[in-house]
This record gives sequence, C-alpha cells and structure tokens, in this order.
Amino acid sequence: MSTDSVKLAELLFPDVDKTPEQIEKAYPPRNLKEGAKVTRFAPSPTGFIHFGGLFPSTVSERLAHQSGGVFYLRIEDTDAKREVAGAKDALIETLSYYGIKFDEGASENGEVGSYGPYTQSLRRDIYRVYAKKLTAEGKAYPVFLTAEEYQKLNAVDKKAELKARDWHADSDKQLQEQRAARSITYEQAKQRLEHGDIFVLRMRATGDPDKKFKFNDLVKGLLELPENDRDEIILKSDGMPSYHFAHVVDDHLMGTTHVIRGDEWLSSLPRHIMLFDMLGFKPPKYAHISPIMRIDENGNKKKLSKRDMGANLEDYRKLGYAPECVTEYIMTLLNSNYEEWRMQNPDKEYTSFPFSLKKMSPSGCLFDPDKLNDVSKNVLSRFSADRIYQGACEWAKEFDAELFKALSRDPEYSIAVFSIGRGGKKPRKDIAKWDEIRAYAGFFYDELFEPKYDFPSDINPEDVRKILDSYAQIYDKADDESAWFDKIKKLAESLGFASDMKQYKQNPEQFKGSVADVAMVLRVAVTGKTMSPDTYRVMQILGPDRINERITRAKGAL
Ligand code: GLU
Repeated sequence: MSTDSVKLAELLFPDVDKTPEQIEKAYPPRNLKEGAKVTRFAPSPTGFIHFGGLFPSTVSERLAHQSGGVFYLRIEDTDAKREVAGAKDALIETLSYYGIKFDEGASENGEVGSYGPYTQSLRRDIYRVYAKKLTAEGKAYPVFLTAEEYQKLNAVDKKAELKARDWHADSDKQLQEQRAARSITYEQAKQRLEHGDIFVLRMRATGDPDKKFKFNDLVKGLLELPENDRDEIILKSDGMPSYHFAHVVDDHLMGTTHVIRGDEWLSSLPRHIMLFDMLGFKPPKYAHISPIMRIDENGNKKKLSKRDMGANLEDYRKLGYAPECVTEYIMTLLNSNYEEWRMQNPDKEYTSFPFSLKKMSPSGCLFDPDKLNDVSKNVLSRFSADRIYQGACEWAKEFDAELFKALSRDPEYSIAVFSIGRGGKKPRKDIAKWDEIRAYAGFFYDELFEPKYDFPSDINPEDVRKILDSYAQIYDKADDESAWFDKIKKLAESLGFASDMKQYKQNPEQFKGSVADVAMVLRVAVTGKTMSPDTYRVMQILGPDRINERITRAKGAL
C-alpha cells in the first residue's frame, strides 16, 4: 500500500469512516447445518417479469429449501435510470403467486432478516468502504471526466458511462489513455476534484487474457476462461456500484453459497473472480443457466424474447393457467428426470422431488406451449373438484364476469359439475386452463348454454325426434347407471337400432344405427355438444326438468 494510494483513497472517499472489519462484524457467518445452501434471487426492478425469471428463482429456491438453507430476495436497484415505480412489489407478489417464497430480504412490508439491507440502493455506504479499501491498496483507481464530457456521453447513450473507454479494446490510443489514467497521482486527482470533475472508479485488472484458468460451473461443467485484463468500472459517477462490484460485496456479506444466474454473466465471471480475490473473499459456487428458447415461424431456435407470447408471466394468469401448472411445467424443463418421478409419484408435492443441478441441460431448454398444456391438464386432473371450483372462480371473477356469476350462484352444484370424472386412478384430462371452463362445462348453466345440434348425420331427423320423445318418457333420476343404460338399449331396439355393438358390426345394414348413435343423440340434445363428460352423470346433475326443457329445445331445432 503506497502512501500516495492511501492519500488518494482519503481524497476520493472523505465520507467513508468505517473499515471493512467493522462491516464484516455485522455479517457473521450463518449458523446453518452442514451442506445447507444460501441462495438468492437478485432482480432489477425494471417492471417486467419474464418467464425466464422463474427459472433461476425456482432453482435457487429449491436448492436452498431442500438443503435446509436460506433463500433471500435482493433488489438490485443501483441503476436508477432503469427503475420502474411499483415494480418491486409487483415482482414479490408475482413470485409468491408462483409459490416462490423468501426467508429473508426485501418484502412488501419492509425487509426481513439480519443480513440486510437487501436493497442495493440502501447499501451505498457499504460498497464505498470496500471501494476505498481497494483504492488505498492500489487495486482501484479513478478515471475523471469533466462535467461537459460526462453530459456529452449521457446524451448519446444512457449506459455510455459504463461503456466509455472500454479499455479492453486494443487500440493504441486507448491503451495510452488507460496507462495515463492508471498512473494518476494524488495531486492530479486533487486538481480534477477541485475543478469539479466527476469520476468513476475502475479496478486495476492484473490478468493476462492469453492465459486461461479452469473453472467448474455447476451447470456448464468445467470451463476454461481467459484471465481478466479489463479495468471494469466498480463505482459509477453517482457513487453507486456497478453490478459487478455490488454482486461481489453483497454475495460475500450475505453469505451466499450458490449464485444461480443467466449465462449472459458468464463473460464477466473472470472479473468477478478477480474482484473476490482482490477483496480477499471466497467466491460462491456458480451455476449459469442458458436462456429459454422457442421455435420461430421458420422452425429455428430463438431466444424467448420480451415480446414473445409466453414471455410475460402476467400472460399466464390472464390466460387462466393455475400457478401450480406453470410451476410443474418449469420443473419438467429444469430436470430431465422430473416427468418420470411424477409418474411414480402422482400425488406428491413438487417440492418432494430431489432437484439436482446435475440434471439441468447446459444448453438451455425449449419453451413449448403444447407441452405446457399437456402438463397443465395432468396437474388439473389431480385437483379436487373443490380446488377446481376455487381456481376457476378466482380467475373468472377477474376475467369472465358472466362465468363467475354462473359458477358461484350455487357452489355445491358447481362442485358436483367439476367432480365428474375426478378422483380414481384415471381422472379425466379435459382442461388445461380456466378459460376452457366455459367450453367444457358451460352447458351446465342455462345462461351459458349455447347448443350446437350436430346430431349423427346418418340418422334421419324423424328418428332423432322419436329418440328424444321416447327418452323424455322413460328418464328416471332414481335409476342407477346400468338401469339407465338398459333403458336406452331397449329404446334403441324399439326404434330399429342395434342394442348390441357386435351384432351391429356384423350386419350394419339391418339397423338404422346402433345404441351408440342413440346415446349420441341424447348427449347432443342435452349438452349441445358431441363431446362431453359422462352423460349419465351429466343428466343426474341437470335433473329431469332441465333434461325435458333441453329435449324440447333440441326438437325445436330439427
Ligand atoms: N440483477 C441481475 C439481473 O437482473 C442479477 C444477476 C444475478 O443473479 O447475479 O440479471
């Protein structure tokens, strides 16, 4: 440590009176059992919650909670220009909707936990203590800009400050500039400050980019990375840290053991490792996750971008996906053995699945809306009728007022509707999302009943009429299912339809049709559709009066 650099640190950071040791005391090692992981989700509150954001957060949450560790939320708001008002609360709410709950960190009611503050804008003084230390040790140095130079940069590009004088580029002019800036003396810095100039603080990189070092990423595997020769900005001109510096200081102090983040950060990893080293901190373990891809119109793989359908998490809620379905889909994308586990454990919570980073694909997964629907149908088929009713009502209340009114008028009736085909070993898989409820079960509600009378085309309308007339005479709600079906068979026979399918297949020309056609006529008349849940159960729920009403209406349409 030279006297000049110590004086320089004093000059640049007169406001900093604490030492790193004093700060460290406030962040003692966490008292956790062996193997417990400490992870975090560290979003920038920019207002948009990307589907991709659920990936690292789900991974981090699982790793922490299945190991008896801690999962916390850190708000990375050091870039005031990008911040969107209210974004933080919306983010917390959305994540909690998807079952992502934090043990510590920023929350809607202030902050929870003793490793905070968890909001980076409130940690300014802490970063400055470490920035001062690095300056005093000659590991960081200021680069000055006049106010005019600064304004010019900013007018061109908001992020210009961070990009300016990117000395990684190898033009001679820039190298000269870098050399000059790196050797700034205390006296020169003092003059610039007196002149009212502004400075950013850069790290003094010591790496040789021609040399590589080995690094084991928990998802990408063993990597060879170039040493860092880039004098990255660690404090911006407003005194706030860059992402790089804040990440290192915070993850150290907050005791993060595993950093799970997007692989766009992989190229900055050498800088981060160097910063950990300069500060004398042990780096956490890293898992870099590839972005989610989609197939575009031309069949090519593309990154799921902000504008793509399915990128904004809010879309899923609007479309009526239950959060459990989205989470289940994410689990299938995250771990290749999840689906097999699910088949063996249909009734377990997804949290019982032993999630493993080793089972993640290093090259990223593909977003497939059809697969989401499949997964979703499976999840909903395991829901109780009561849960379907609650979920559908909650969604309809916000997005389909008419449906909500119909569903909630008589909850017991609606729960009976949703109980058809539920329970048992092979539950029906009719719906993937709440906006399909209308098409699936709307016919149970008179105001939503919009029949389409597609009677079997080879049955003539006169016979349809006869079937309907006869059925109206014989329906008895007290019949059990086999008595009910026997009556339909008899009815079929009496009108010249085969009651035995085998017989019918052998000599179709001897019959007007089969009992299956008769049953279809009844189904279409009563439900207004050719596809519906079990007709016996449907009729039990509708009851004789409404069956008769519907039969009359269907005849009117002949
Ligand atoms: N704030 C960073 C981002 O929004 C977080 C990256 C990380 O998890 O370290 O991408």
